[in-house]
Amino acid sequence: MTLDRALLARYFRQLADFGVGEVYLAHLNAADALALLAGRVADVRAPVQPRVPDAAHASNAAHTQHAAQATHVSAHAAAAPQAQTAVNGAAARALHVLSQQVSGCVRCRLHETRTQVVFGEGSATADVVVVGEAPGQEEDRTGRPFVGRAGKLLDLLLMSVGFPRDTVYICNVLKCRPPENRNPLPDEVTSCADHLHGQLETIAPKVLLAVGKFAAQLLAGGDGSIGRLRGRIHSYRGTPLVVTYHPAYLLRSPQMTRVAWQDFQLLRTVLDEQA
Ligand code: URA
Repeated sequence: MTLDRALLARYFRQLADFGVGEVYLAHLNAADALALLAGRVADVRAPVQPRVPDAAHASNAAHTQHAAQATHVSAHAAAAPQAQTAVNGAAARALHVLSQQVSGCVRCRLHETRTQVVFGEGSATADVVVVGEAPGQEEDRTGRPFVGRAGKLLDLLLMSVGFPRDTVYICNVLKCRPPENRNPLPDEVTSCADHLHGQLETIAPKVLLAVGKFAAQLLAGGDGSIGRLRGRIHSYRGTPLVVTYHPAYLLRSPQMTRVAWQDFQLLRTVLDEQA
C-alpha cells in the first residue's frame, strides 16, 4: 500500500473543502485504513501542516487569544537540553510508580468486576494526552486503552493531523471497565479523578484532548454537552484543552466526523502555536 499519513491528511482536507459531510473512510476501504494504521511512520514528529477550513478558522479565531492565555510552558519543554534525558527518565519512573499504585485500587465498586486496571499508555513526556471515558471489553481484556473499534477510529483521526498513536499518551477518566459498558457513575468519576490528575501532572503535556462528555466535563468543568464545549480552547490547570466527540459516538453518527476532524485540526494548531 502506498498511502501514507500525509496523503491521508490531504484526502481528509479535500473532502472537507468540498463540503462532503462524511469524511471518515469515504472511498478508503477499511483494509487500506487498517494497513495504514499498522504501518510504521518514520518521521513521527513532522507536522502535517493541516489547513483549517476558512469557516472553522473564523469560528476558532476568537479563541486564539484564549489559547495563548491557556498555554503554559510544559515542565518538560522548559528543561535545558542537557537535563532533558533526566527529566524524561524521572517522568517515566514517576508514571510507573503511579501505575503500580493504581493497579491495586479498590476505591470504588468497579474493582470487583474488572479484569485489570487500564492505566494508560504512551510516552511519559508526550506533548499530547488524549483522555477518554472508560475501558470497554477489549481494553479490560488487554489492559490497553482504546484498542477496540473506537480506538481504531481515534488512531486514524490522530494520524490525520500528524499524531501517530505512539507519539501521544492515551488514558481514560475511569481506569476500570463499568459493567456492560454503562456510563460512569458520579462517585466513580470522583474516586478515579485523582489518578488522572496525577497522570497529567506527571506527564505535563502541552495540550490535552478530551474525547466524550465525561472527560470533557471533568477536565473543562461544568456539565455542558460536547456540542457546547467543542470548537474553543479550554484550560485544564493552565494546559490548553480541546474537546471533541467520543469516537464510539462517531461510529454511530459518521456525519459528525467532519466536525470532529475540525477539533483534531484545532489540537494540531494549538500544539504548533507553542513550537
Ligand atoms: N472508550 C473509551 O473511552 N476508552 C477506551 O479505552 C475505549 C473505549
